[in-house]
Amino acid sequence: MRLALFDDYRLGVVAGDQITDVTGALPGHDPDPLTAGWWRGLCRDFPALSPRLQAAAAAETPVPVASVRLRAPALAPSKIIACASNYRDHVTEMHEVQQRTLGRAVDWMMRFDIFLKAPSAISGPADPVLLPPVVLAAGAEIHHESELVVVIGAGGKDIAPEAALASVLGYTIGLDITVRGAADRSRRKSYDTFAPLGPWLTTADEAGDPAALEIDLIRNGDDHRQHVMTRDLITPVPAIVSYASQVMTLLPGDLIFTGAPAGVGPISPGDVLETRISRLGSMTIRVR
Ligand code: MN
Repeated sequence: MRLALFDDYRLGVVAGDQITDVTGALPGHDPDPLTAGWWRGLCRDFPALSPRLQAAAAAETPVPVASVRLRAPALAPSKIIACASNYRDHVTEMHEVQQRTLGRAVDWMMRFDIFLKAPSAISGPADPVLLPPVVLAAGAEIHHESELVVVIGAGGKDIAPEAALASVLGYTIGLDITVRGAADRSRRKSYDTFAPLGPWLTTADEAGDPAALEIDLIRNGDDHRQHVMTRDLITPVPAIVSYASQVMTLLPGDLIFTGAPAGVGPISPGDVLETRISRLGSMTIRVR
């Protein structure tokens, strides 16, 4: 199933280029994004709620996806976890990027690990990425990182790798927008709009094997910057979920950015970023 949030945070089921409003099937729905417990409840209880949503999707009249405003398929997650250094070719290119932007290569940043990104950085597939004028004025590079994003379902603590996929609700596409430089990752990656997500959440049963997806990012129509198969993840999705859950309890609706493929590069106001992942869809994000 493809679950979308749209307009005033209504819940839709997407099929082809149509979306069906199934908000009425959720008695606890609340349009206020600040009280988004209904969304986290849906993430936790999706297996039990799925038949009701499917019935509503079959009963209601669909409208074109293009006629609604898609929102990020996430509401008030307790955290955004993100992976560093999770594709070999990206680790290699970061030696050069760090030499250029830091004047040296930083060894600890070249090893796989997780860090946090502020949930307030989330923006939707219809929203632009806003480059902070003060960062641009300082001459820092701001990069795109196009990533497979895991949406946590039931979650848990100390999840074994063999049990990890059972705690995943599904997947979406994310851009981990990043200022290059010497500051802590949590600041460089947490400016507002630095976490575009979308175009919807594809549940795990429909997404299939998370190691069999293809990620692409194309800048301005013809600059094909990123292309990778997720089988090339150094730490695959089950191991990421397990590792993160040994540190912090994964709560329903939490997000995990799985790491950047090679091909990261600077973005500028006016750029258009098309990012797509096989089986998950695509979105086109403008940079201002
Ligand atoms: Mn990243």
